[in-house]
Amino acid sequence: MAKYLVLFGPPGVGKGTQAERVKDELQIAHIATGDLFRDNLKRETELGQLAKSYMDRGALVPDEVTIGMVRARLEEADTQNGVLFDGFPRTVAQAEALDQLLSERGGRIEKVLFIHAPDSVLLDRLGNRWTCKKCGAVYNLNSKPPQVTGVCDVCGGELYQRPDDNLETQRKRIEVYAAQTAPLIEYFDRQGRLARIDGQQPIEKVTADVRAAIG
Ligand code: AMP
Repeated sequence: MAKYLVLFGPPGVGKGTQAERVKDELQIAHIATGDLFRDNLKRETELGQLAKSYMDRGALVPDEVTIGMVRARLEEADTQNGVLFDGFPRTVAQAEALDQLLSERGGRIEKVLFIHAPDSVLLDRLGNRWTCKKCGAVYNLNSKPPQVTGVCDVCGGELYQRPDDNLETQRKRIEVYAAQTAPLIEYFDRQGRLARIDGQQPIEKVTADVRAAIG
């Protein structure tokens, strides 16, 4: 049976870091909608241009655009054994669409791994976050610095600060999370699919909790 999991939580809580740490052992595809939008932007596609206008403001890309992109991505062969969704769904409409897409494939979301931390911690992490231009790996100048300043440990790519990691956009993204995404906590909890994980713990401990929740 294909395995479908969701990494859920506010911006900066460590979803991408945890996805990097568990995706290989799970042997399922990793679909991070933020990475897909950034990849489109890099390749200068129409979708990338459209997404940029929302991303730059810290707003969500409209549901129909995001859902369409995920639907197309799910048609790729590497998703057959399952998917670790990261940063998707972010609205109730996206969650409903995902349930529908998966049920068409005879599957369902098994677990939603909800990593949480207070806003002060999120702002601190976003402010110290550096991302690899080439492979998207994430670093933190305090808790997870790269071995060589400005260079990705994984692929040797150049590290940069995402334009939406500036203070004003960080605040906006946290607000958008609270207003549009946090309502999903109750949505998933009601369905008995939510596992709460304390994102303030050291990276290794969070990974241990993620693994335990996946079972
Ligand atoms: P992330 O890399 O997850 O922090 O996402 C960066 C930006 O991409 C967000 O601030 C949104 O503008 C956009 N984005 C990523 N995932 C979604 C989604 N599921 N729904 C709408 N917009 C998204």
